Amino acid sequence: MTYPDSTTAIARNLGEIREAVADAAGSAGRTPQEITLVAVSKNQSPALVAIAAAAGQCVFGENTVQEAMPKLERFRSDALEWHFIGHLQSNKAKLVPGNFAWLHSLDSLNLAQRLARVATAQRNSLNALIEVNIARDPSKHGIAPESLMPFVEQLLQTPLLGIALRGLMAIGPYPASEAQIRAAFAALRALRDECRRRFNLPSFTELSMGMSGDFVPAIKEGATIVRVGTAIFGVREYSKKS
Ligand SMILES: *Cc1c(COP(=O)(O)O)cnc(C)c1O
Repeated sequence: MTYPDSTTAIARNLGEIREAVADAAGSAGRTPQEITLVAVSKNQSPALVAIAAAAGQCVFGENTVQEAMPKLERFRSDALEWHFIGHLQSNKAKLVPGNFAWLHSLDSLNLAQRLARVATAQRNSLNALIEVNIARDPSKHGIAPESLMPFVEQLLQTPLLGIALRGLMAIGPYPASEAQIRAAFAALRALRDECRRRFNLPSFTELSMGMSGDFVPAIKEGATIVRVGTAIFGVREYSKKS
């Protein structure tokens, strides 16, 4: 349900987050233009997406295909950019190219091959980030850090027309101290740098890291994409009800 003050709250939250992004960037000698803010609208109603879009936000993130598709349909004419940030099963891959510009959760060769087949058939292309389980959390998806180089090598040996490998994504450790969070994000940055260098990939530039609770340290460690949900929209609507 949308409360009368949602418009003000979302516009104010977006303003505060953009300011915090700029401050964090500045303190790291970076510019805010280097950082893309993905507004994570999972479990939020289309009405709230419309409010954020009206406040100038044009990049949104969703984590399931079922929930995302009706929203994408509704905003088809609004030129919004959608990012798929959740775990994606290979059998759902067919809906991602063409609907989403970015996938943050590439974690298997089989998924990459399926996405490439769909993207090629549609003459679309998909920017893909490899998800790394940087916190080594057994409940999380992603490639183990020590398996990343062999995985990238395998991807590069496979014809994957339509898939552009653009960088890495991770979820920071939680709960964790500021020092542990920064160490995890720094480790992700080092892995990206190593991939770029070792495999000579000039466009492997992106680091998707940082959410509502940790986007500031993520930017200080080099995040180029931050994924922020509750700090923009408030508590997720569908979980509020249950
Ligand atoms: C839900 C989610 C986010 C946003 O989390 P908040 O804490 O609400 O900002 C970011 N990334 C992923 C992968 C998510 O699933």
